[in-house]
Amino acid sequence: LVRLRTRLARSQNSLGKGLLTLLSRDNLDEDTWEEIEDTLLTADVGVAPTQELVERLRERVRILGTRTPDGLRALLREELVALLGPDLDRAVRTEGGAETPGVVMVVGVNGTGKTTTTGKLARVLVADGRSVVLGAADTFRAAAADQLQTWGERVGARTVRGPEGGDPASIAFDAVKEGIAEGADVVLIDTAGRLHTKTGLMDELGKVKRVVEKHGPLDEILLVLDATTGQNGLVQARVFAEVVDITGIVLTKLDGTAKGGIVIAVQRELGVPVKLIGLGEGPDDLAPFEPEAFVDALIG
Ligand code: GDP
Repeated sequence: LVRLRTRLARSQNSLGKGLLTLLSRDNLDEDTWEEIEDTLLTADVGVAPTQELVERLRERVRILGTRTPDGLRALLREELVALLGPDLDRAVRTEGGAETPGVVMVVGVNGTGKTTTTGKLARVLVADGRSVVLGAADTFRAAAADQLQTWGERVGARTVRGPEGGDPASIAFDAVKEGIAEGADVVLIDTAGRLHTKTGLMDELGKVKRVVEKHGPLDEILLVLDATTGQNGLVQARVFAEVVDITGIVLTKLDGTAKGGIVIAVQRELGVPVKLIGLGEGPDDLAPFEPEAFVDALIG
């Protein structure tokens, strides 16, 4: 938690600190409320959640009377946590079927951190005592399978891969088959994120999903989004959500942006919880998303 705080705080502080400074102004007038709104919009919180939050803050500040720094901090903390859906179920499901391993499909546009996230997730699972098989179904990007295999070797998970440019669905199928044969606990499937056409993407991811489900249940479809891409990331998220049923979001590169508000916007947009966050390129830089800890890091 401490590490999460420092990692996030390095880039995120500006949002929370900025809001607190504005709320503490002696003269909390219309211009200041507008500045508060701008601060939220600039941090990618999104229009509707921003308006909602500002309305709530106005109301609460009005009945607060004296604005002490501690009072404002507590109030802002509560409202931000509430906006993040503190009660959403954020566990990554890996139960699988009676005779089949848990299966998690990792989707997202190339470059968002899909392969890295798959590797980090494998590490978390292995550290938790689960045996993991990796499926390198991103056959579009030449180096993706090598990259995933390197992660696999590092964490102790076998990687199933096919020929370059091969059929992603057949690799996914083989990976789950291998997982069953080995009696593995979890199979993680890295997919390709070509956004050339929506139907192309739909065909490919749909096919991967279908062949995986021939073996047994698919537990999760995690969408990886790069937090630094802001509104663009939201557009991508929408496309993926139209193509497959996303069950959770992984927001990567939160260490590299002050725009943490994207967490709020994307959950709103997709109606799906952010389950994991990426805080760096290293093997330990994947954390469960915890609204309270996140907001504490925001406020500093
Ligand atoms: P993919 O094409 O979606 O599979 O993306 P990669 O997994 O290859 O990641 C693209 C780049 O982003 C790599 O250089 C990763 O090291 C980097 N990356 C991934 N996740 C994070 C993160 O949480 N923080 C930072 N700073 N970099 C990340």
